[in-house]
Amino acid sequence: MLKTIIAVGIPGVGKSTVLNTAMKELELRGYSVKVINFGDLMLDMLMKRGLVSSRDDIRNLPLSIQREVQRDVAERIGSELRRIREVSGSKPHVVIIDTHAVVKTGTGYWSGLPAHVITNIMPDSIVIVEASVEEILGRQAKDFERRRSDYSDAELLNELLSLNRYFAVSSANLVGASVYILRNREGKVRETASELVNLIENLRG
Ligand code: ATP
Ligand code: AMP
Ligand code: MG
Repeated sequence: MLKTIIAVGIPGVGKSTVLNTAMKELELRGYSVKVINFGDLMLDMLMKRGLVSSRDDIRNLPLSIQREVQRDVAERIGSELRRIREVSGSKPHVVIIDTHAVVKTGTGYWSGLPAHVITNIMPDSIVIVEASVEEILGRQAKDFERRRSDYSDAELLNELLSLNRYFAVSSANLVGASVYILRNREGKVRETASELVNLIENLRG
């Protein structure tokens, strides 16, 4: 039995933090859990080709290269999901993909979940992690491990809050997935993770 979730949201909103906390809670409840970070897999392929040295450089590559690597990663995730489905039996498994509904590239807004990506994953639900513009700006400013200056403008973030919903809904509609809006309140990672765990528990097996 496998439940598959895709989590998306503006860079710095707290996706990876919330997902890793939710993973621990799900494991305590007896699930076998895998969180797959789409950007990790893209970074790995692109570093092997010597094209980037950091994950925040990926979105500035020519779109043709991003598209090619996005396709390869989606296929890899698709095979991994098929493998897990085969071995899962009656033990409950959860796979959460940590990714983006929309990426701001040098040549415009671009879907992170076009048809060929979403059909490889076939999620039960797309979870949009949200926070206020002020909260996101504050989190980006405190996180020295990442370079998100191309996402650090209040007007842009306001636009992206809407764009994320549009892009996520259009992807969900391709495969009949639900869309769930998960508010990641300041200082409330554990509560946000618990809400996600409840959503996953309530999904059909
Ligand atoms: P990206 O898309 O760029 O990978 P992300 O959405 O995965 O970003 P994180 O790296 O998880 O974002 O979080 C960004 C920063 O915000 C981290 O320093 C994290 O500790 C902090 N953070 C996450 N959630 C909260 C919260 N609820 N309250 C306060 N700080 C938070
Ligand atoms: P993250 O650590 O989640 O921000 O991912 C790092 C980078 O990987 C992002 O800034 C994007 O450039 C890229 N990325 C992640 N998910 C996708 C996706 N679904 N489609 C295209 N690029 C993606
Ligand atoms: Mg992240």
